[in-house]
Amino acid sequence: MRIDPNKCVACGNCVPICPMGAISIDLKTNRAAVDADECVECYTCYRGMSMEKLNPTLVRTVRRALKLFRLRFDPEPDVCPTSAITPDDLLWPRVVRRAFSDPIVTHESTGVHGRGTEEVKTNDVTNRIGVGEVGYVVEFGRPTVGVRFRDIEKMTQALAAIGIEFEAKNPVTHMMTDKKTGKLRDDVLNEKILSAIVEFKTRIENAPTVLRRVEEVSKTLDTIVAIGVSTRCGNGGESALDNVLSEEGFPFARGKTNLGLGRR
Ligand code: SF4
Ligand code: SF4
Repeated sequence: MRIDPNKCVACGNCVPICPMGAISIDLKTNRAAVDADECVECYTCYRGMSMEKLNPTLVRTVRRALKLFRLRFDPEPDVCPTSAITPDDLLWPRVVRRAFSDPIVTHESTGVHGRGTEEVKTNDVTNRIGVGEVGYVVEFGRPTVGVRFRDIEKMTQALAAIGIEFEAKNPVTHMMTDKKTGKLRDDVLNEKILSAIVEFKTRIENAPTVLRRVEEVSKTLDTIVAIGVSTRCGNGGESALDNVLSEEGFPFARGKTNLGLGRR
């Protein structure tokens, strides 16, 4: 994303809109500017603000004149008065920022919006997680924090080393040059995105090793990591995974229950 200096009137409205804090007012030029290294191409600024087409020279003149009388002309807070916010044509590898950060973009590798697959939301139909298995979603980054692929790679390589098989349809798996080692493409490692999810499954007896490894590696990363686990319950709703989580010291709550209504 770019801000056209010929149009920007430095009203500052776009600054708090950016979830990455990538927009600031440059006091030397008196224009807003985007820190390209921090911008994750989420399009929140461009799509989230109304773009008006006031004449920049006129707006600057009015603002200067009012300032003399200690008055201000401020547009409505969700408006860029001069349509100065301008998307760039994104080339590889920068285009992966948008694919992982703009929720309305369909990810080429999955055909669905957003960062992951349907996980286990449709497990009653897909049978992705079988009896005695555990599905994992390891989630990196958050608005204001983000994550670079080099940090995701540290986790995927550490997980691959304990024999994890990554979910083939997941967008991060598509960035791997070697699924056995968890190695990601070198040309994306420095790209920053809002968040990403790594998905895989194991037998339930391997869950303690996985949980410990994720916790250990997450402490070395320059981002936030969250983990979600899923399993099939017995007919009475009981789950052997509950005991594993308790023994490993993970406080948990059942967040989603798939009742199997999709089954034929
Ligand atoms: S909202 Fe538009 S005019 Fe105001 S600072 Fe941002 S880019 Fe410049
Ligand atoms: S595209 Fe997103 S990250 Fe980049 S400047 Fe706009 S709001 Fe901030």
